[in-house]
Amino acid sequence: MTENLNPFAIAQAQLDEAAAVLQLDPDMHAFLRQPMREFHFTIPVKMNDGHTEIFQGFRVQYNDARGPAKGGIRFHPKETIDTVRALAAWMTWKTAVSDIPLGGGKGGVICNPREMQPDELERLSRGFMRAISRYVGLTKDSPAPDVYTNPQIMAWMLDEYEVLTGHHEPGAITGKPLQLGGSAGRGPATAMGGMFTIREAAKLRGMTLEGATCAIQGYGNVGGFAHRLAHDLFGMKVVAVSDEYGGIYSANGLNPNDVVKHLQQTGKVIGCPGTDNINNKELLELDVDILIPAAIENQLTGQNANQIKAKIVAELANGPTTPEADNILNDKGIYIIPDFLCNAGGVIVSYFEMVQNAYQFYWDEPMVNDRLDKKITTAFLAVHEMAQAKKVDNRVAAYLVAVNRVAEAVRLRGWV
Ligand code: NAD
Repeated sequence: MTENLNPFAIAQAQLDEAAAVLQLDPDMHAFLRQPMREFHFTIPVKMNDGHTEIFQGFRVQYNDARGPAKGGIRFHPKETIDTVRALAAWMTWKTAVSDIPLGGGKGGVICNPREMQPDELERLSRGFMRAISRYVGLTKDSPAPDVYTNPQIMAWMLDEYEVLTGHHEPGAITGKPLQLGGSAGRGPATAMGGMFTIREAAKLRGMTLEGATCAIQGYGNVGGFAHRLAHDLFGMKVVAVSDEYGGIYSANGLNPNDVVKHLQQTGKVIGCPGTDNINNKELLELDVDILIPAAIENQLTGQNANQIKAKIVAELANGPTTPEADNILNDKGIYIIPDFLCNAGGVIVSYFEMVQNAYQFYWDEPMVNDRLDKKITTAFLAVHEMAQAKKVDNRVAAYLVAVNRVAEAVRLRGWV
């Protein structure tokens, strides 16, 4: 039987497994299986060749029982409503497992930003905000960056929002440039949080991180910072990295400065001097201590899970592992740090950004990182304890912690 790779079907199947362990009330289960609200809209954008391109946009507010929806906006040629639904569901569990007072949401546009000019991207970003401005904001739903969106795009969206609403409201969007109320440490936050969870997992596994080998798939905001931090914080030997065009390998370890320099010059990691080319499939199957998927969904599947040799898989990407692969990796004794725990650093620091915006009083980077460490390590330990107590794998344990918290908020509100 072929594997179902629909991300939302996967997110629902993961919830179903947790609901069975929790013996969740069937009405609550049915409620938590679906997004509470979703918006589908067109965004007409004047392109530089004179024609008007009609883009399709989505915003899903999956669940806001614990607080305003929160989640990134992805610009991707293969974006689908089911990907956005899945990512919004995972945001709901992520904010809950991190115990921050926010719900879960996500947005997306079907487009290829790699083929668009900066002014076209600005008009698209402003168009996205015009389409949803009435339904987002500090107390409703606060977007942030995700794949192929960045602080500049957040700045355009915030500006459009503030022009439309007629007041300043910096917490309406996070991942902003520092000059517009962004938080120190938000850039590396997702990777930094992931490093704290890797540190804790390594302690449990009795693994020394100094000199441990590592492969990272994806070299954007998350994967790029993961390389630098693994190298700088722990002295790990990152032997392979990749992006959408392919990967590079060096048995002696890759220096992040060299890779970033080459990426800035050529737009790709392949061809970095002193390295061998490998493809993404080979990278995932390398014999390394730690594998970090930091690109997109469905990278570890029933097709390749048997070939994975890493001892720890730290899921900095959202949804990189299918349920079939999950079973295989768990049977092989591979320690998985599940996505909505491993990559929660981004939303935790986004929450810190909202707090700083509310007080108009800003923290320095060491304070941000220290508070991030406390939050994500507490979440990691709660998941670990749940896994031990219920004798379940880490992903199911993370769901048990998160779903309990969301269900409790739903019950207290009297919705179900
Ligand atoms: P990004 O756009 O900055 O970078 C994406 C990277 O992945 C790029 O290097 C791109 O070339 C690479 N890539 C794309 N398709 C690929 C493929 N098929 N094979 C290999 N590499 C591929 O995006 P990002 O913000 O770094 O996000 C990466 C992942 O982390 C996503 O799953 C995202 O949802 C997740 N995430 C991001 C944040 C955040 O704060 N940015 C927070 C939590 C989770």
